[in-house]
Amino acid sequence: MEQLMFALLIWLGAHTSYVIPNGLPFIEYKSAQELSDMKYGSNYSERRLEVSAIFSDSKKTIYLNKKFDLNNKIDQGILLHELVHYLQMYNALDFKCVEAREPEAYQLTHAWSQEQGIGDPFQDPIFKLLLLQLAKCPNF
Ligand SMILES: [Zn+2]
Repeated sequence: MEQLMFALLIWLGAHTSYVIPNGLPFIEYKSAQELSDMKYGSNYSERRLEVSAIFSDSKKTIYLNKKFDLNNKIDQGILLHELVHYLQMYNALDFKCVEAREPEAYQLTHAWSQEQGIGDPFQDPIFKLLLLQLAKCPNF
């Protein structure tokens, strides 16, 4: 796992101007339900988007699905996405709202996936539209 994270961080270092930290974030594994509850709260009953992973700034932790497979490229892409958030935090970038961190993370995941010759793990077009909308921080 550490080797994979370092490899992904090196890739990100080559494709962004971020300073790459020497240390790695913590990793914790959660069930799909737990990830969803973490993101939306357990009482949230409206339609939930599937949560693949979460990065917590305050805990410097990436929460991955228990089914995360180190050797699966799609899963690696999901980890790459969360590592972008780790770099955003480490480089102390200031975002107007949490959602504003997402376009860069999705764009880098897309570029990485193309290089790997695999499908984008986040290719749902409706999801993308929603994301771009939220990234404008409409409720801020
Ligand atoms: Zn994200």
